[in-house]
Amino acid sequence: MLLTMKEMLAVARDQKFSVGAFNICDSLLMKTVIEAAEENNSPVIVELAPPEFDYVGEEFFQYVVERLEKSSVPAVLHLDHGRTLEQVKKAIRCGFTSVMIDGSLLDYEGNAALTKEVVDYCHPLGISVEAEIGTIGSLDGPEGGADEIIYTKPEDVMKFIQDTGADSLAIAIGTAHGIYPVGKVPELRLDILKKINAITPVPLVLHGGSSNNDEEIHEAAISGISKVNIASDYRKAFFEQLTKTLDETHAFWSGDVYPEAIAAGKEVIQHKMKLFESIGKADLYK
Ligand SMILES: [Zn+2]
Repeated sequence: MLLTMKEMLAVARDQKFSVGAFNICDSLLMKTVIEAAEENNSPVIVELAPPEFDYVGEEFFQYVVERLEKSSVPAVLHLDHGRTLEQVKKAIRCGFTSVMIDGSLLDYEGNAALTKEVVDYCHPLGISVEAEIGTIGSLDGPEGGADEIIYTKPEDVMKFIQDTGADSLAIAIGTAHGIYPVGKVPELRLDILKKINAITPVPLVLHGGSSNNDEEIHEAAISGISKVNIASDYRKAFFEQLTKTLDETHAFWSGDVYPEAIAAGKEVIQHKMKLFESIGKADLYK
């Protein structure tokens, strides 16, 4: 069943777990993510950033929307890191139930004005809006981000939500997009998270959740974060297994090539869902 992000995260926030948001960019990754959610009876968010959206093309979403509508688990189709109102409109035309507008590279006033414009467009249509303050670091990949992480200031949170009406908020507490280079150990500022969680009127989102230490992610996922974005970790497992299978078998029928890669991706997703404590939580949405 397809929900809005507002509906999805209200339950997660209330019950103190997080819903995983997995970036996809083809039907094999879509299959990996939705089957993993169904096998674990977990709510799930399927998301695409604009470069991923452009890569699959608009027609792709007829399949995605139908697959999610018919799924046994609650699901959201979300635009990750939309940068313009045009990108947001295109996603809504394709059946997305939620969008992110990322004005985090603008100054406070620019970010708030852009976010409010998107909220004013989306809310009458019943679409949820995620915004971002502070900036998440960038290592690689299509989501972008700043070279340096600027931590979200707790005192900006209340004002930003009042100024914009956003339904959820991505905060910067020390993560970066992509896989960290060897030797660089990310560290989450859980103290900042706890301060923000104590005052925020809306659910909080953690981006760049790949390759962070499991304990920290688990702690964040039950201490005020309601949505955690994961792209690199499960896709890396998928493509490493795919390379291995192709090297070993030289097969050229999809049924011989993909199942092991899908299984490897699912294993990582299940591990993340355990950390988020979302396994079995699909029942809460019935
Ligand atoms: Zn992100």
